Amino acid sequence: MSAHTVTEVDICIIGAGPVGATLACRLAREGVPVAVVDRAALPPMEDPDFDGRAYAIAAGSKNLLEEAGVWERLPQIPCPIEDILVTDGRPGEPPSPLSLEFTREDSRQPFGWMAEARALRVALNATLHDAPSVTLLAPAEVVITRSDAGVVVRAKDGREIRARLLVAADGRGSRTRSQAGIPITKLPYGQSGIVCAIAHELPHDNGALEHFLPGGPFAQLPMTGTAEHPNLSAIVWSEKDAMAQRLVALPDELFVRELKRRIGDRLGEVKPVGRRWVYPLSAQYAQRYTATRMVLAGDAAHGIHPIAGQGLNLGFRDVIALADLLIETHRKGENPGAPSVLARYQRRCRPTNMLMFVATDALDRLFSNDNPVLRLARDVGIAAVQRMPRLRKAFVKHAMGV
Ligand SMILES: Cc1cc2nc3c(=O)[nH]c(=O)nc-3n(C[C@H](O)[C@H](O)[C@H](O)COP(=O)(O)OP(=O)(O)OC[C@H]3O[C@@H](n4cnc5c(N)ncnc54)[C@H](O)[C@@H]3O)c2cc1C
Repeated sequence: MSAHTVTEVDICIIGAGPVGATLACRLAREGVPVAVVDRAALPPMEDPDFDGRAYAIAAGSKNLLEEAGVWERLPQIPCPIEDILVTDGRPGEPPSPLSLEFTREDSRQPFGWMAEARALRVALNATLHDAPSVTLLAPAEVVITRSDAGVVVRAKDGREIRARLLVAADGRGSRTRSQAGIPITKLPYGQSGIVCAIAHELPHDNGALEHFLPGGPFAQLPMTGTAEHPNLSAIVWSEKDAMAQRLVALPDELFVRELKRRIGDRLGEVKPVGRRWVYPLSAQYAQRYTATRMVLAGDAAHGIHPIAGQGLNLGFRDVIALADLLIETHRKGENPGAPSVLARYQRRCRPTNMLMFVATDALDRLFSNDNPVLRLARDVGIAAVQRMPRLRKAFVKHAMGV
């Protein structure tokens, strides 16, 4: 797109993260004219170095990525999660014997798939570049004007997009959301998430571990191995802020010792691979998802504790709802920015997203402490769910988004 051009589209998406980019790919497949703006560049190829971050993709999200033509472009096959062991304990001690296990018998398909964040970015960017009905504006800084008549998005270099609906998918700190005056409610946790990958001696057998510790939950998630590291897992490890900073700065040998105090011997010897990342954890939700000719989607609308690995999956649920509505309005020749369409979107997504917000917040408060009464209550709860296959299956279905 050259400077001083004006492009007319139905939908303009701000933010080409996994949520915005997937929505664009899904809409483009149905012939909806769409533009995507990101302040960062969107190279179709990326540095091949492993960077240690990964997403747990639920079954509903996988279906969406398939429909959007993205799944088939992932440069490596994501690893299915076929068993999940939930335990409670303290670092350096064996976990409580009252554990909860979700196994292959609880579900006819895997609980989810672990995909490298880098692989998803590569697949999304390549699909975006190849889609004929997508206009890309990246890297670009834009000024947005919205009115009842429509949306105008102007880049500093003079390029202009006119749209009938704006989708703000520009992440947790969404500037589009704050410029629209939509307030957010924020819950800081005083916890940070350490994210890294580990190579290990024994195979993970597609099993995941969610170990609840007083400092926060510790998760090991199975990943597809490489020629160099055939046995590979992702680690998402929450700790109080100061502790997380101390841990992440440890030399490899001491970091491994701390890892093994939490993970035990189930994977044999372990070795960190790639970078270690630390993210401050907080949860937040937008008071509403809509404004004149605009909707919020993904982290711009809600951010939850990563305790259940569901953050991106919630964003993908927004994409499913929004894509359904927008494809329908396109087919019927209706206005995608009409207040009735926006209200339907909010009604469909916000209540279920709020439920997940409350559930993950409650889980973290229940599990991230060392109070002996709560410890007993949660161990009894874990054991009770273990004995109730119907309830176990209901949990699984909800988390899989099916
Ligand atoms: C420690 C941790 C672990 C996690 N693990 C998981 C997991 O296992 N599974 C899971 O489902 N989720 C997980 N999540 C959550 C997940 O990372 C987010 O939910 C997801 O990245 C949200 O995607 P998004 O596209 O909405 O936003 P983002 O990924 O934040 O993308 C936003 C995009 O908008 C662009 N942008 C920002 N501002 C502007 C602007 N002003 N103009 C134009 N473009 C802009 C950015 O460049 C970016 O491309 C985890 C989160 C954390 C912190």
